[in-house]
Amino acid sequence: MSIVYLNGSTMPIEDATISVMDRGFLFGDGVYEVIPAYGGNLFRLQEHLQRLQNSLDGIHLKNPLSNQQWTDALNNIIQQNSGEDQSVYLHVSRGGAAKRDHVFPDEIHPTVFIMSNELKQASRETLQQGVVCITLDDIRWHACHIKSTALLANTLLRQQAKEEGAVEAILIRDGVATEGAASNIFIVKKDVLITPPTSHLLLPGITRDLILELARENKLVCEERDISEEELRDASEIWMTSSTKEIVPVIELDGKPVGNGQYGPIWESMIDIYQTYKNRLRQGEA
Ligand code: PMP
Repeated sequence: MSIVYLNGSTMPIEDATISVMDRGFLFGDGVYEVIPAYGGNLFRLQEHLQRLQNSLDGIHLKNPLSNQQWTDALNNIIQQNSGEDQSVYLHVSRGGAAKRDHVFPDEIHPTVFIMSNELKQASRETLQQGVVCITLDDIRWHACHIKSTALLANTLLRQQAKEEGAVEAILIRDGVATEGAASNIFIVKKDVLITPPTSHLLLPGITRDLILELARENKLVCEERDISEEELRDASEIWMTSSTKEIVPVIELDGKPVGNGQYGPIWESMIDIYQTYKNRLRQGEA
């Protein structure tokens, strides 16, 4: 049975209920984070809490908990749920109001929710098979750096990808690739690792930042710059990255092979470096 946190209490998920007047329900008025925990150790917790703070600032909502309170609540939920590795979801909405009104209520009582699910990592063999992606027009708003629970555009894009036999949509805005519907992207061009710079057009992925940090430590040449649609199609490697999927090679884009249609050598180096980091985290050393 799954144990969740709701507004200061823990309870079985079946008992966790909120008002239909919650602005998270009515307007998608909230923000969230997804944090993996390996062997009970939260992955890049400070970075996730900082991104949460930035998202809350972006929607003008006061952080309802201190970093220590978040840490205690998250660890408590991990301990009460099963799974050596878990994916922890936290969510803060602007809470309920007496009347449905776009304007914020005078008194805010945010809804704070945390749940956790077992995280089953894809094996190396599965990762090596790579995935198929399609490109789609980035129909989202201009504040994609806020990790908002209002994910309708992302869900429509992801669903379209699925219906077209792909696992992810790589989004194109004004001729440049921004990110995936639920992931960041990297390309390799002449052995240089390239990812779009952070801006209001994409989510600053925790995995993205870690890959850049680890790549630089390991003397791989990296660039943060715009990737044109043409460059994307011409890349020798494309990766999609996220905390739960980690680093996945894209082997086919819009029906055409990426590079030679197999995972590439830079991905192979990076996945080893990433797994070494994760093993250190598992031992409580990272
Ligand atoms: N971009 C979007 C739109 C996402 O939803 C995600 C995953 N939540 C990411 C990027 C990757 O972020 P992270 O590495 O922090 O999981």
